[in-house]
Amino acid sequence: MGRSRSAVTDRSNLAGAARTLGLLLLFAAALGTPHTQAAPPARPAASQRNRTPARRQPTRPQPAQPAQPPNPAATPGLVSTDSAPMHHEALQAEKRFAQEMMQQFRVQMTFVETPHFLIWTTLQPQQHQVLAAQCEAMYAALLRIFQLPADQPVFLGKCAVFVLSNQEQFKAFCQYVQQIPPDHARRAVGFQIGLPDGRSRIIAFWPGNVQELAETLVHEGSHAFLQRFGGNSHVLPWFNEGLAEHVTATVFQTRCNQGREAMQRAIELVRNDPQILSKMLMMDDSLPGEFYPLAQSVVTFLVQTDGKAFVQMIKGLKNTEPFSQVLQKTYNASVPQLDTHWRKWLQQTAESGRPVY
Ligand SMILES: [Zn+2]
Repeated sequence: MGRSRSAVTDRSNLAGAARTLGLLLLFAAALGTPHTQAAPPARPAASQRNRTPARRQPTRPQPAQPAQPPNPAATPGLVSTDSAPMHHEALQAEKRFAQEMMQQFRVQMTFVETPHFLIWTTLQPQQHQVLAAQCEAMYAALLRIFQLPADQPVFLGKCAVFVLSNQEQFKAFCQYVQQIPPDHARRAVGFQIGLPDGRSRIIAFWPGNVQELAETLVHEGSHAFLQRFGGNSHVLPWFNEGLAEHVTATVFQTRCNQGREAMQRAIELVRNDPQILSKMLMMDDSLPGEFYPLAQSVVTFLVQTDGKAFVQMIKGLKNTEPFSQVLQKTYNASVPQLDTHWRKWLQQTAESGRPVY
């Protein structure tokens, strides 16, 4: 779940979907560490967004999937229905964690609370409201994609977001929280960490411009959202990263540099390798950065083809069913059929120059 940048998704541009309706119908027819109080048994999963999407660095191998103590309150296919005391305890735990970080690093962070996020930051006060607004915009976009009502709680408590103004602080945080080596953190703008108890945490730093920070928060926020949707289990890296990139492109549309270029990069990869989709689907450990645009294009294609089927697909994947089986069940298509129709869509979309979010 790393990424040479971060991103998220939703389908807010219905016009774009309508323009590709013909093809879509055709297809549809065919088809941290250890940190916390007591050390957790395994390091929680982290997702990363690196700095240069254009020249993505291979992402570090994912930490072994934590032996996830299944969240008893999470029912596959639904956002978890944790009790009020569980939400309360999660909020308190994250506030204790923030205090611990401030003491550990002797840094004062400003606390900003929004309806769905707990934000701690060392950014300047004039950036606080931008941060808060970006986080909530990302949340709203995700609700639309996942077709959830606005009052549906997703996070356990709230998602914690740490945004540091200084990269050295960021690297030190990453090392302390998630044992991420500084050399690795150096290439990243942000990480998302899913804690075994269901809490989610994003750590990012100021990359020099507000757009990149906003994209990072959306990308990592997508991982946090997907971590919670349909239980606390993980999905395949290509799906996780593809969705995060799709959401980012959808939220920012023409402002998202990486979103503009993704389809072109995907086309280049596809042109050179007839087996590339199958190869990507087999990657079950981590996804190299150069595959992000490819993953994004597959997710965008699936979302645009049938948004409802896509949500069902997420539920199946969170239920750890094999992708080919879930594809058959939800889109009535085999992997070779997906390959054929996705390639045609990719080619036509790239040639037309249409926006794809
Ligand atoms: Zn990622």
